[in-house]
Amino acid sequence: MEQQLKQLEQEALEKLQAATSLKELNEVRVAYLGKKGPITDLLKGMGKLSPEERPKMGALVNTVREYVTAELEKKAAVLEEQAIQEQLEKESVDVTLPGRKIKTGNRHPLTRVIEEIEDLFVSMGYEIAEGPEVEKDYYNFEALNLPKGHPARDMQDTFYITEETLLRTHTSPVQARTMELKKGEPIRIICPGKVFRRDNDDATHSHQFMQIEGLVIGENIHMSDLKGTLDALAKKMFGEEREIRLRPSFFPFTEPSVEVDVSCHKCGGSGCNVCKHTGWIEILGAGMVHPNVLEMAGYDSKKVSGFAFGIGAERIAMLKYGVDDIRHFYTNDNRFLSQFHRTEG
Ligand SMILES: [Zn+2]
Repeated sequence: MEQQLKQLEQEALEKLQAATSLKELNEVRVAYLGKKGPITDLLKGMGKLSPEERPKMGALVNTVREYVTAELEKKAAVLEEQAIQEQLEKESVDVTLPGRKIKTGNRHPLTRVIEEIEDLFVSMGYEIAEGPEVEKDYYNFEALNLPKGHPARDMQDTFYITEETLLRTHTSPVQARTMELKKGEPIRIICPGKVFRRDNDDATHSHQFMQIEGLVIGENIHMSDLKGTLDALAKKMFGEEREIRLRPSFFPFTEPSVEVDVSCHKCGGSGCNVCKHTGWIEILGAGMVHPNVLEMAGYDSKKVSGFAFGIGAERIAMLKYGVDDIRHFYTNDNRFLSQFHRTEG
């Protein structure tokens, strides 16, 4: 019986060493140490032994069983380690592979123009003011010297919600609201935002567009202040060597009113397609705030004066980036928008 036990031990050790996986190892465990295994059988057969032999054999069987169990555990640890290594090798990352490019997108060209203009004016001490896009007729027209029936209203036909409520045609109502709020205090704001007109969309017209208006009110505000401000704006947007010129014009809410041209950034003034061979490009309208507008907002037009200007963000972006159709800004075509990746600063 002792002989038999030694042989079993030898067999079990050989088989467990030969096992190449945890599954095979478990089969060895069941075969030799399991309830139906030969070692259990030997223990069961101990009843046939003499009382003197029994403890000796019992100890011997236990020693063998413990030894085989310990060896099984050692082997299991080795196999587990191997399995982990194999897994790691299979899943290892090849650091020499090029990375996957993450598409981050970029800012819309109109957003960029607006942010550039905002930066400039904030650096000059202006605040950025905002207001509702659905506006009262009063703030959009009346408070700006455009009473009901005024012919200049025809130039700014819009979408009406009710008789008295409409989609604003300019960001000027933000100026009217700010003046009302400040109650005679000095003002220095720009108002960027969406505005609406009942225009048929074509290459140069859109029923929705972005406007940036500026308003300064205080003592001793002169036309020369307006000119200096717009000169800084033109240089910021189109380059340091740009010049501006003012031409007389008409707006109901300013007096005098001017159209502002900037020297052509494409040809430098010698004449090209962009400037229609004049050397100048019209970029915005401006003027000194009309005394009626000041008085309606509670300012004393004898004591204070102010200037205002309005820029179309699309117009600036079209000139700056050479865009030939205003509709490109609103069709969300990635072929158009992705062109601005390269120049993103
Ligand atoms: Zn030109």
